[in-house]
Amino acid sequence: MRVLIISDIHANFVALETVMSDAAGRYDTVWCLGDVVGYGPAPNECVDLVEAEADLCVVGNHDWAVLGHPDLDIGHFNPLARAAVEWTQGQLSEKSHNYLTSLPAEPLEPEGADGILVTHASPREPVSEYIQSPEVALENFSYFETKMCLVGHTHRPAIFHWQLRKIYSRRGRRNGIPVTVDYLRPYEGQCVRLELTELQRLILNPGSVGQPRDNDPRAAYALLDLESLTWEQRRVAYPIDLTQSQMRAAELPRRLIDRLTFGS
Ligand code: ZN
Repeated sequence: MRVLIISDIHANFVALETVMSDAAGRYDTVWCLGDVVGYGPAPNECVDLVEAEADLCVVGNHDWAVLGHPDLDIGHFNPLARAAVEWTQGQLSEKSHNYLTSLPAEPLEPEGADGILVTHASPREPVSEYIQSPEVALENFSYFETKMCLVGHTHRPAIFHWQLRKIYSRRGRRNGIPVTVDYLRPYEGQCVRLELTELQRLILNPGSVGQPRDNDPRAAYALLDLESLTWEQRRVAYPIDLTQSQMRAAELPRRLIDRLTFGS
């Protein structure tokens, strides 16, 4: 099975359509890691497409914010994000509302994909924690048991590689088992092999479709091949100005419009 992994679409339908056509023919199923809405100008279009195409989708913090979920305090959002959430609330169709409400917040293990956990933010705090450093990743490895965990939320493609190193003394006595976590920022087109020994595990982040924040404005996504066991990082340019003119027409905050140009 080949899986198209998309995350943090944030109502950027132009970017989402570009990703879908870029990946066409290369996947059998779609998993979405949440934040379908928030920030962008086309929430219902994005929800409709995700609902139609994705076999699995978890809820993100912006999805929760738009739904007014009691476990999410919108007071923690910056004013621009909050303005976008409020605008989205006024746009959301009943159908979209129902779909977002149906999405699970708890991490889940997709059927037919042994050893993989899927969540929006982190295994420890599934809707809200940012895994941006090896230190935070290391802590999170003890909050799940599968070999791999897929996360979004940071809007930055990343791979955290956990490794248990068995060290023996010259007499063959075990000298402790230090754990290390390496951080890799995958480049466009990089294909990472996922054949893991019993001493290795991974946290993988495909980056954001609709609002990249790694200084690369192109839409980010990943292709996970469960047979050949590979993770391919993809980047694709999309007509950013089209999304921006939709945002201007919707009178969304200027800074949210501008940041798409820079991927920041
Ligand atoms: Zn997001």
